[in-house]
Amino acid sequence: MIKIGSHVGMKAPKYLLGSVEEALSYGANALMVYTGAPQNSRRTALDKLFLPEAHALMKENNIDNLDLIVHAPYLINLGNTVKPETFQAGIDLLTVEIERSIAFKAKYMVLHPGAHVGAGSELAIQSIIKGLDIVNENNNDLIIALETMAGKGTEIGRTFEEIAQIIAGVKRPEMLGVTLDTCHIHDAGYDVSDLDALLNEFDKVIGLDKLKVIHLNDSKNERGSHKDRHANLGVGSIGYDHLANIVYDERLSHVVKILETPYIDDMPPYADEIKGLKEYK
Ligand code: FE
Ligand code: FE
Ligand code: ZN
Repeated sequence: MIKIGSHVGMKAPKYLLGSVEEALSYGANALMVYTGAPQNSRRTALDKLFLPEAHALMKENNIDNLDLIVHAPYLINLGNTVKPETFQAGIDLLTVEIERSIAFKAKYMVLHPGAHVGAGSELAIQSIIKGLDIVNENNNDLIIALETMAGKGTEIGRTFEEIAQIIAGVKRPEMLGVTLDTCHIHDAGYDVSDLDALLNEFDKVIGLDKLKVIHLNDSKNERGSHKDRHANLGVGSIGYDHLANIVYDERLSHVVKILETPYIDDMPPYADEIKGLKEYK
């Protein structure tokens, strides 16, 4: 059975229970949520989020906790060495998010590594390593899965080497994993159509055992464009077969796949895309 889900909402009135219901309505057996608005640090108290009810509904439907993914807010930038207050705000928010994700019983949290904002990659990578060491000092329960990025602006994580350098630099590499976003790596210049070569490269540079989450998205732009604009499966420049191959590859069967494809006419495409993938082959 394939592990497939999508990004879903996490909002009033039912919060995480509503998220699980939304995922089930798409025919998904996995889901990804933000624990609150990704662009700010206001958070609804944990006891208001229907967590026990959500966990009960997951269990009833055989959704494993491993397949409930949290995405960290994208305003966190541990790579910012220009404004120390941004780095510190990132540490504070990430610390809260780790606690919340553990209360959600999630095992993996996706995190954008950061952006160097003009100071250069090397300084940013050292800053990200320092930040991860701080937040992981007392964390034994949640793997932070660094996301591969398209290389838009000054983003860090545009190559497997940058991700590998972060993992190699931290005190507790066992608390880090990787999220592979197909749109992002394509936009960063990797060839998603040659899956064997891609996985070999990932294995050589990072290690395939570090791969914990896949974001399955087509791309609106050409390979190497460094743009990061997601397209629906099969209507972008990666193409349907190459994305479906990832879903069905034996080497990746234990890795959850999460769709972050755009809404079509204000409607989520996920039920149709999940159905299509299940029927593929
Ligand atoms: Fe992301
Ligand atoms: Fe992504
Ligand atoms: Zn993206």
